[in-house]
Amino acid sequence: MQTYDYIVVGAGSAGAALANRLSADAGNQVLLLEAGPASHPWSRIPIGYARLITNPAANWLYTSEPETNTTGRRLPVPRGKMLGGSSSINGMAFVRGQAQDFDTWAQMGNTGWSYADVLPLFKRMERYDEGDDDYRGRSGPLRVTNPPPRLPIFAALIEAAGQVGIAHNPDYNGPRQDGIAMSQATISSGRRMSTARCYLDPVRTRANLHVVSEALAEALLLDGTRCTGVRYSVRGASHEARAGCEVVVCAGTINSPQLLELSGIGQPERLRDLGIEVRLALPGVGENLRDHYAPRTRWAIGAKGITYNDTARGFGLVRQALRYAFLRDGLLGSVGAPIRAFVRSRDGLEAPDVMLGWVPMLTEPGPNGPIISSQPGMTCYAHPMRPESKGHIHITSSDPRRPPAINFNFLSAPIDGEITARAVRIARAVMTAPAMASLQVTELAPGTTQTTDDEILDWVKRAAETTYHPVGTCRMGTDPIAVVDARLRVHGITGLRVADASIMPTLTSGNTNAPSIMIGEKAADLVLRDAAQVRV
Ligand SMILES: Cc1cc2nc3c(=O)[nH]c(=O)nc-3n(C[C@H](O)[C@H](O)[C@H](O)COP(=O)(O)OP(=O)(O)OC[C@H]3O[C@@H](n4cnc5c(N)ncnc54)[C@H](O)[C@@H]3O)c2cc1C
Repeated sequence: MQTYDYIVVGAGSAGAALANRLSADAGNQVLLLEAGPASHPWSRIPIGYARLITNPAANWLYTSEPETNTTGRRLPVPRGKMLGGSSSINGMAFVRGQAQDFDTWAQMGNTGWSYADVLPLFKRMERYDEGDDDYRGRSGPLRVTNPPPRLPIFAALIEAAGQVGIAHNPDYNGPRQDGIAMSQATISSGRRMSTARCYLDPVRTRANLHVVSEALAEALLLDGTRCTGVRYSVRGASHEARAGCEVVVCAGTINSPQLLELSGIGQPERLRDLGIEVRLALPGVGENLRDHYAPRTRWAIGAKGITYNDTARGFGLVRQALRYAFLRDGLLGSVGAPIRAFVRSRDGLEAPDVMLGWVPMLTEPGPNGPIISSQPGMTCYAHPMRPESKGHIHITSSDPRRPPAINFNFLSAPIDGEITARAVRIARAVMTAPAMASLQVTELAPGTTQTTDDEILDWVKRAAETTYHPVGTCRMGTDPIAVVDARLRVHGITGLRVADASIMPTLTSGNTNAPSIMIGEKAADLVLRDAAQVRV
């Protein structure tokens, strides 16, 4: 059996950042296990997002369980399965969240996670050439840019938002989040900046970093209450690796609780029912699942030539391909939702509670995923940023290849429904503001006849999907339901941490890639500091 100092399971947003930082010291032998392949050609080009969202070669393609507030629908739960994890297939919007998000985590007892504590990590991880020096980093590994606002529709939206009281705020990752802005993006020179590209590619030559792709971690090796290593398989062949110091699970919100449960760490009844020996009763494993349940309002645009519906077909597409080949921008180099707004749904709030994101294109459901609609138009998703509804994820089999059951329990907290209805009304207010009139906008969904909260929520239940931000299933905290402590150590087990989006106690206000990478950076500091103390 091979022995390493550290074994990192999962090379996604958090895991790749962590493996980079741990292996910066040539004295640390680091094994990075990734279930997916080393790369996929579509992961390099931003538009590849549309190809990877339904592609089993680089995506776990989970679906949720049917539930009342999805009217029995199973929702797609895409997750990246390759080096870079979900950062290799995501929509590339770069949003940190609000200072209050992290201050709340600290107030919940998680020492070291206030915004003042994590701001230096957000700065250290990024290379962004603009913004305020107090808030933004210039020399980190992750390239973050402002893609150019090419379409006139974006200027119209910014003006329309201003007309309904939503000011333009170019740096929502700076001192204030409020306002409308072009999305900042993990895109540089027309290429996706995944953590594989930014954290792993530059350190491939490190002799002490051992990256094994197509390696599925099947169980943690436990000696009493100490984690000693990992059992994994590569193309059917079983292997074991020993960790001299620690194992850090970075398999993401779906697979981190799955791996703990497969290893006998979780709710005893549930594990026993599946014939799994209980190694540690930890009732919070798989609980506290949160995600953004986001209806996509749909709008027809009568003005010609200004949406991607006009430019993504026939000769228009050829022009876009040439534009990408020569200028590295346009549709093929675009962030998923190029413009977004952070808005307060009512007076008296300290910070925005709603996010809107616009895509200058209408799509229709197709047999193999969304297809471009023949009708030119726009989609605007609108949702509460910090939902209170909580669901759970649990294994249904002791077979590591069987997908776990994902129950979101959406809209179970009534406040989420209230804010969702307000969010849809804010989308309407922007889309019908005077600055949009010349674009000849018609509401397609939910439709102008849907006006009361009940009518809007009825439509939400029939139509909403997630924005692919599941978090929280190995929640950090100090109470009996918490899975890890503020140093990300699994309660009750030594030599084992979890570091990825699953440790978030609550959802951050926005998209979740940036905070997940920050968690990987933070984990590196915690692991290295603890190791240094042991040596002293
Ligand atoms: C389609 C999509 C669009 C999104 N758009 C955006 C966006 O525009 N902006 C944004 O900020 N966020 C976006 N997100 C969310 C964001 O990308 C994720 O929150 C973030 O990447 C999560 O990071 P993570 O480290 O927790 O998990 P991941 O990045 O998912 O990494 C987990 C890794 O672990 C591996 N793994 C899992 N199980 C095992 C196992 N048993 N053995 C070995 N390896 C394993 C996985 O294959 C994966 O590589 C999007 C996500 C998706 C799926």
